[in-house]
Amino acid sequence: MAGPSIPSPPLDRRGFLQRIGRGGLGAALVAAPGGGFAAGQARSSQSLRGTLEARVAATGARGEARVWWSVDTDERVVGLTFDDGPHPDLTPQVLEILARYEVRASFFAIGALVEAHPELLAQVHEAGHEVGNHTYHHVSAERMDRDDVLATVERGADAVAEVLGDRPRWFRPVKGHVTGAVLRAAARVGHDLAIWSVSRGPRTSSDTDVDAVRDHLTTHHHEGAIVMLHDGVGRSALDPFGQSARLERRRATELAVLPEVIERWLADGYRLVTLSELVDQHHRPGRPPLDGSGGSAGDGRAAPAAGDAVATSLD
Ligand SMILES: [Zn+2]
Repeated sequence: MAGPSIPSPPLDRRGFLQRIGRGGLGAALVAAPGGGFAAGQARSSQSLRGTLEARVAATGARGEARVWWSVDTDERVVGLTFDDGPHPDLTPQVLEILARYEVRASFFAIGALVEAHPELLAQVHEAGHEVGNHTYHHVSAERMDRDDVLATVERGADAVAEVLGDRPRWFRPVKGHVTGAVLRAAARVGHDLAIWSVSRGPRTSSDTDVDAVRDHLTTHHHEGAIVMLHDGVGRSALDPFGQSARLERRRATELAVLPEVIERWLADGYRLVTLSELVDQHHRPGRPPLDGSGGSAGDGRAAPAAGDAVATSLD
């Protein structure tokens, strides 16, 4: 049942996460049932097989979920992505900047905000950008049980479908936290998972340090990178008492540098594309995606701390 990218010998969950986190160049193909994720490698006793089959029957999860941090290519292409919208202030600003440079991106929308601002999501789509699912209410999977994870993924997909007609192809877990429940839910809904290889920079950079954010983004991009920025403020947009001035400052900083960052990438010969174009037209299949070689180091694919989540961000 192991996909071509799952290493052997058997790994426990922590070891598996460390492997796929370290080898962030490319994608991991993960068998959907939770049992296969944790214990399914090469151990094929009848009792284990029976346990796994029972879990599959219980969850309804079948098939596979692909997880992408970046794609393996020598071409100068970058998949630019924006999380946490739609947001009445930030999303139109991002759309205007992207239109100015005639580039396409992928937007990971929060379902509850899609319901609040369906016209903004429609604008994103009509401008030629791709829309993905970023859960319904933006709570990390680490804080939910399996059923709640599935519910927020399905409801997020349905919120997008309500506006655009179809459930989106792509899913990005909150804070990049990939758990067994996330993989199961993504497989069940039929999502591919997109994490990222480049974000706005390390946590140590000041929230409003324009130079640090710009310099990070213009020195860490690489062939096949998935870059994660924001057109929203995460969960604080859903909580009238939880407005985060800090997050708003961080977002303002990202927006302030975005035009210059795009100009620098374009001057470097890079093209900016949607995730689907990046993966479908530029990923070079066949190379083991977990070897971790090649490319320049992106912050998002550093080894995860303490073997916990695969990729994390402050947001
Ligand atoms: Zn988010």
